[in-house]
Amino acid sequence: MIYDVDNKRIDLHIHTTYSDGTLTPKEVVKISRSKGLAAIAITDHDITDGIEPALKYGAKVGLEVIPGIELSCEYKSTEIHILGYYINWENSWFQGKLEVFQKARERRAYYMLNKFKEIGIKIDEQMLFTKSHAGSISRIHFARCLEEMGIVETTREAFEKYLANGRPAYVPKLRITPEEAMSMIHRVGGISIIAHPIFGGGHKNFLKKLKRLGLSGIEVYHPSQNINQCERLSEIARDLDLGITGGTDSHGERKDENPIGSLDIGYCSVDMLKEIKHHSERKNKIILTSHN
Ligand code: AMP
Ligand code: MN
Ligand code: MN
Ligand code: MN
Repeated sequence: MIYDVDNKRIDLHIHTTYSDGTLTPKEVVKISRSKGLAAIAITDHDITDGIEPALKYGAKVGLEVIPGIELSCEYKSTEIHILGYYINWENSWFQGKLEVFQKARERRAYYMLNKFKEIGIKIDEQMLFTKSHAGSISRIHFARCLEEMGIVETTREAFEKYLANGRPAYVPKLRITPEEAMSMIHRVGGISIIAHPIFGGGHKNFLKKLKRLGLSGIEVYHPSQNINQCERLSEIARDLDLGITGGTDSHGERKDENPIGSLDIGYCSVDMLKEIKHHSERKNKIILTSHN
């Protein structure tokens, strides 16, 4: 299909091989460009290594790439994901924090390998770590191993039988609070947006609380949110004066994945993010000047 570039469609939620996506940053940019997208954001879980290659290749082929991240947190036993945009990802304090998350993910992977062993499923360690390309290792990599081993037919089946919360190989991740995730993002100049609130954190009172902590917007458009849910979330965004964003949460172009750019999202979300960034930079400048 040929897309109209002038429509300026975007995708603000994409994973690469640095976390649990199956496309390299360069491939993500290439595909996004070929689909006529005007801007994309790289939002890997707990890792930023995909940003630079995507930015470089984006500059070469004329695609706007927004540096981003997706952090998992927990509030009252519910998993909530926070997206951070326009982060100064090279900040060494930020990278130090991410390193702690990487190490925790690695330790968790070994616990999970053991859990599988206990139920008689021997997953080859090398196969598993090859799949995660030395990036953020996640449950999806286990699911892909199980698929390749012929134990399940789809990744969804792997989650239902083994990997989801309450199933035999489940091990929780390192827990941080939404407050901690957002303050991490803000400390490096980023903008926080709650990802797919349908999976957690979608209640108005809770969003109000997050707004007080500096939340800037809601990911209203996501493949898991149906039209009624999108409308409800848009209404909350309007009431609370929060911005609206959207993305496919694409993990690649394999079957049972959401293809990049498959949601019709306009460029106005990028304008909104830029405006927030501009205002917060001005505010910081004023504060700095007044201290001089
Ligand atoms: P982790 O970060 O290791 O807990 O893994 C979670 C990742 O697995 C999410 O980012 C999703 O990409 C994916 N995932 C979670 N639940 C499912 C599911 N039911 N089916 C397929 N993928 C899932
Ligand atoms: Mn994922
Ligand atoms: Mn997520
Ligand atoms: Mn995601």
